[in-house]
Amino acid sequence: MPLLNKIITTAFPFIPKSIVGQVAKRYIAGVALSDGIRQVKELNKKTIMATMDLLGEDVKNNFEIEEVKAEILSILQAIEENKLTSNVSLKPTQLGLKIDKELAYRNIKKIVETAKNNGNFVRIDMEDAATTDDTLAIYRRLQSDGLDNTGVVIQAYLHRSEEDVRSLVKSKANIRLCKGIYNESPGIAYKDRHEIRNNYLKLLNIILEGGSYVGIATHDDFLIDHAHAIISKFGLNKDQYEYQMLLGVREKRRDQIVNDGHRIRIYVPFGEQWYAYSSRRLQENPQMAWYITKAIFIRQ
Ligand SMILES: Cc1cc2nc3c(=O)[nH]c(=O)nc-3n(C[C@H](O)[C@H](O)[C@H](O)COP(=O)(O)OP(=O)(O)OC[C@H]3O[C@@H](n4cnc5c(N)ncnc54)[C@H](O)[C@@H]3O)c2cc1C
Repeated sequence: MPLLNKIITTAFPFIPKSIVGQVAKRYIAGVALSDGIRQVKELNKKTIMATMDLLGEDVKNNFEIEEVKAEILSILQAIEENKLTSNVSLKPTQLGLKIDKELAYRNIKKIVETAKNNGNFVRIDMEDAATTDDTLAIYRRLQSDGLDNTGVVIQAYLHRSEEDVRSLVKSKANIRLCKGIYNESPGIAYKDRHEIRNNYLKLLNIILEGGSYVGIATHDDFLIDHAHAIISKFGLNKDQYEYQMLLGVREKRRDQIVNDGHRIRIYVPFGEQWYAYSSRRLQENPQMAWYITKAIFIRQ
């Protein structure tokens, strides 16, 4: 990591929120549901699918949890009313996972049931490793309650992921495969980028051998190129997989994937709670230091 990026990463918590907001606005659709809808309409016009995400995580009290649930139900309604090609992604800690697991289950179940009635799908995002067991347990319980319109996320950086994937493909789980974004300890996670990439490709092969549907979530050329080759090797039809990317990241590569005839879904986050998400995106951006410096010195 270049020195300036290292300094900015260390100093990140002290950078004014207004500066972070200015630089990070490309990663979020806006603060209101209408902003998210507008963004999804634009993507759909280009035959790009979406998954809408209400920003926020680790919600602390029952009142806020109820609000989040109501807002996610409104997203599902808006998708229906506007005939958008979009599903919904949610984080279990937004719906109470760290307060009361049973409450979180009931909330997520309500959302997944509503989506099912609309013929829609809910992706359960994966958060830090302290939540992996509980998140997978929620997914499995939804399945056993007859709700098959939902899928999980597997993080290639976790040592445990191979075992999780081998178990999930037995029931043909719908899996989003990503590298993983949280700062996990070397005891449980690969830290070396080559090891993470190798594990990603190993897991992708296991998922496809097992006949599961996969969301290949990455902006990494190395992984995208290898994934293209793996898709050809398995002779997959377009409806057996999709690529996934985040809003505001590598749009040229995104369009190239579409032009090459693959399906792609963009993660479209919106909402008032944009800071934590935007900070993570910025810290992944190799040009972060330059963007922040520019925002500090060239105020618009
Ligand atoms: C649709 C989707 C859903 C996700 N869901 C989850 C989840 O549920 N749980 C979880 O832990 N993680 C999730 N992630 C994040 C993921 O784990 C990675 O942290 C993230 O995708 C970066 O990894 P990468 O594979 O793109 O590789 P990287 O090596 O990080 O990036 C490859 C290249 O893409 C470009 N790039 C990447 N990020 C940025 C950026 N922010 N700005 C500008 N350029 C950038 C750079 O050129 C970089 O060299 C998700 C990612 C996607 C795409």
